[in-house]
Amino acid sequence: MKWTNESILQDAKDKDVRYIRLMFSDINGTIKNVEIPIAQLPKALDGKMMFDGSSIEGFVRIEESDMYLKPDLDTWLIFNWEEGNHIGRIARLICDVYTPEGEAFAGDPRSNLKRVLKKMGDLGFTSFNLGPEPEFFLFKLDEKGNPTKELNDHGHYFDLAPNDLAENCRRDIVLELEALGFDIEASHHEVAPGQHEIDWQYSDAVTACDNIQTFKLIVKSVARRHNLHATFMPKPIYGINGSGMHCNLSLFTEDGNAFYNPEGADELSETAMYFIGGIMKYARSFTAICNPTVNSYKRLVPGYEAPVYIAWSSKNRSPLIRIPAARGNSTRIEVRSVDPSTNPYLAMSVLLTAGLKGIEDKLTPPPAVDRNIYSMTREERLAEGVNDLPGSLREALKELKNEPLMTEALGEHIEQNFVAEKTHEYFSYQKQITEWEIEKYFTQY
Ligand code: ADP
Ligand code: GLU
Ligand code: MG
Ligand code: MG
Repeated sequence: MKWTNESILQDAKDKDVRYIRLMFSDINGTIKNVEIPIAQLPKALDGKMMFDGSSIEGFVRIEESDMYLKPDLDTWLIFNWEEGNHIGRIARLICDVYTPEGEAFAGDPRSNLKRVLKKMGDLGFTSFNLGPEPEFFLFKLDEKGNPTKELNDHGHYFDLAPNDLAENCRRDIVLELEALGFDIEASHHEVAPGQHEIDWQYSDAVTACDNIQTFKLIVKSVARRHNLHATFMPKPIYGINGSGMHCNLSLFTEDGNAFYNPEGADELSETAMYFIGGIMKYARSFTAICNPTVNSYKRLVPGYEAPVYIAWSSKNRSPLIRIPAARGNSTRIEVRSVDPSTNPYLAMSVLLTAGLKGIEDKLTPPPAVDRNIYSMTREERLAEGVNDLPGSLREALKELKNEPLMTEALGEHIEQNFVAEKTHEYFSYQKQITEWEIEKYFTQY
C-alpha cells in the first residue's frame, strides 16, 4: 500500500497511536530514535522535525549540527507490543536525513544507498534485490536480567523440541514479524548450539535493509520477553560456528531477472558472471564494511562454514560466493562473507558498486572452484587463482582506504568517518591482554 500524509494521520487516529518513533541509522548501523507525541505527527510528515546531528556517531561536527528527518511514508508501521498498556500504541517511520539546505545528507547511510541505486538505474536495471539470512545466538539472562554466557540450548541444525528450547521464542519472533508484514520463508535452529536463523522474502535493497533493522529490534525484544539475550555478534563462542548474514543478490530489468539466461552456461547470464567478477575483484576492499568489527575476523577462519577465500561455486559452502540451484526469477548469487554486525545500507552500497563495476568493465571471474577450499593447500589455491579475504580489521581497513571505487560507493564523508572510527576501535583492541595470552605465556616465560 502506498501511504500519504493524510492516510497515515487517519490510520494513527483509527488505531490509537500516541507516540511515533522517527528512526534512522548511524554509521555503525545502530538504530537511532527521536520519539514524538502524536500532536507532532503532521510536522514530522512534512519533514520539519529537526535533531542535533553532532551527537550521532559518524555524522557531523558541532558547528554544522542541525539536521532534518524526512520520513519515508512507505515505512509506516504500528508496533504490537505496547498494545494493552493503556498509553495507546507506538508507530515508527524510517527517515532519510537532510541538511538545512534541503539536500540528502552525505553521512546518512540510507541516503547513500539511494544515491548508489541511481547508478544502477543509469545502467538500465530496475531493481537490486536482497534476501538476507541473518543468524543469531540466544543466551540466558540472570536473575537481574543481565545477559549471561550460558547458551539456552544444545540443539543442532534443524533440531526440534525438546533440544531446541528456543522454539517458543523463535515462534513468537516469527508471529510478531508476520504481524508487521514480513513474509517469513524459513525459521530454524542453526548448526551451533543456541544458534538460529530466520529468513524472509527478498525485496528491493532499501526495503530489505529497513527490514533487517526492524528484524533485529524485534528479535532482541521478543527474546527478552523469554528471558533470553539475542546477539548478532559474529563470533560469540570459540570453537563453534559464528553468525553470518548471507546476502542473496540479484538485478532485475523490466524483462525480469537479469542474472538468468536459459541458454547461458549453468543458465546464468553474462550480467551475472560480470557481477560475480566485480564482487571478486573488490572483495578485499569491501570486507571492512561487510565485516566491520574486530570480532568479525574470528568468524572468517577455516572450518566453520564461513568463507576465508575469494572464490565462487555452485556446489559447496566454503567459498565467498555460492550460486544457489534455483533458476528463473530466483536466480541469485549468495555472498557468504557478510556478517550481521554490518550496517546493511553500507554493505549494499559497496556490494552493488562492486557488482556494477564488474558489469561495466566486463570482468570475467576465474573458473568456479567446486571442491572444499578449506582442505586445499596454499599452493593449490594460488594455482587456481584463489586469493584470501583480509585476516583482520586492520588489514581490511587498509584495503578499503586504498581502493578509489570504495570512495565512490560510500562517499568521502562516510568513508573517512568509518575508517577513523574503526581504526580507533582496532587499536583499542590491539592493546588488550587476552585470556588466551595469559594461558599461553604467563607460566611459560
Ligand atoms: P540457502 O540456500 O542459503 O538456505 P535460503 O533459502 O535460506 O538460502 O534463503 C534464500 C533467500 O534468498 C530468501 O530470503 C529468498 O527470498 C531470497 N531470494 C530468492 N530469490 C531471490 C532473488 N531473485 N534475489 C534475491 N534474493 C532472492
Ligand atoms: N553460520 C555459518 C556462517 O558463519 C553459515 C551456515 C550456513 O551455511 O547457513 O556463515
Ligand atoms: Mg544459515
Ligand atoms: Mg545461506
